[in-house]
Amino acid sequence: MPEPRQTRDIHQVASRLSKGGLAAIPTETVYGLAALATNDQAVDAVFVLKGRPSSNPLIVHLPDSSHVSDWAASVPPEAKRLMREFWPGPLTLVLPAHESVSRRITAGQSTVALRVPSHPVCAELLRTLGAALVAPSANRSNRISPTCEAHVALQFSGEDLLILEGGPCEVGLESTIVAVLPDQPPAILRPGVLTREQLGLRESPAFTSAKGEPVTVPGQHHRHYAPDSPAFWADEAALKQLGDRAEVAWIFCGDPRPVRGPSKDLGAEPGAYAQHLYATLYEMDALNPSEIRVIPPPRCEDWEAIHNRLSRLIRAG
Ligand code: AMP
Ligand code: MG
Repeated sequence: MPEPRQTRDIHQVASRLSKGGLAAIPTETVYGLAALATNDQAVDAVFVLKGRPSSNPLIVHLPDSSHVSDWAASVPPEAKRLMREFWPGPLTLVLPAHESVSRRITAGQSTVALRVPSHPVCAELLRTLGAALVAPSANRSNRISPTCEAHVALQFSGEDLLILEGGPCEVGLESTIVAVLPDQPPAILRPGVLTREQLGLRESPAFTSAKGEPVTVPGQHHRHYAPDSPAFWADEAALKQLGDRAEVAWIFCGDPRPVRGPSKDLGAEPGAYAQHLYATLYEMDALNPSEIRVIPPPRCEDWEAIHNRLSRLIRAG
């Protein structure tokens, strides 16, 4: 049976991609399953390998902002400001799509999501290719995004997939997505580690489309990032009731408590918590606990992206 293989050879990965193949690549947010954005068959293969519904659009990763004009029909001034200030980095901009952009990428919409990643290995790969890549998270649909090579390999075991080595992802959560469409105030479609405050978008309203066209953010609608083991919030009562059960795993937030099962303190600082959250879920899943209990982090803006992701994987009850 073929198995995923790791490599440091950027030219080997670039050559595979330029021939229409797929490869897993590091980015500063999470690992991506990459394909040439101008090759419809390769883009289709990404949807198939992930098991991703064709209604869930892909983000296009560019070598630098000079490529934006190939992908966006127009770039509002506020988008130019955000590009200048935050690219390369973990910010995705949703802009009006250039007519040449494949509607497979945009899931039939007239907008396109663009990002210039800052991960040095990814940046060098994009420079080598001189072309754009789609790169949704390198996991099967509805599973946790991988933040290191080993977790990509787990997701695609049995597949002949080349994984470009880039070490553990620095950010650890998917990018912040901001829609900047003509004659509309910018709107945050997905929170990320770059906060509303940092982006200078304090006043951004919830998003509505001028033409009545819904800008769908499919990942936001359903439970999207599930570990194998069921995850639940933990409170004092849960700690008391389940703390001595060896089969229950715990994720703490800067205030570890004595428990019998496996536990991890992700700390009280949101940056480090975000960086290690997904890897911790993979590690806990590997121990096959009966459930994972998560102590709720603080409820403030710095923790918004973490709450957003946790709310997608935690079950009620
Ligand atoms: P990811 O799964 O992290 O690669 O991110 C893809 C996500 O980007 C999708 O699930 C959408 O939430 C968002 N996205 C991509 N393209 C668009 C678009 N044209 N309009 C709105 N959101 C988009
Ligand atoms: Mg994803």
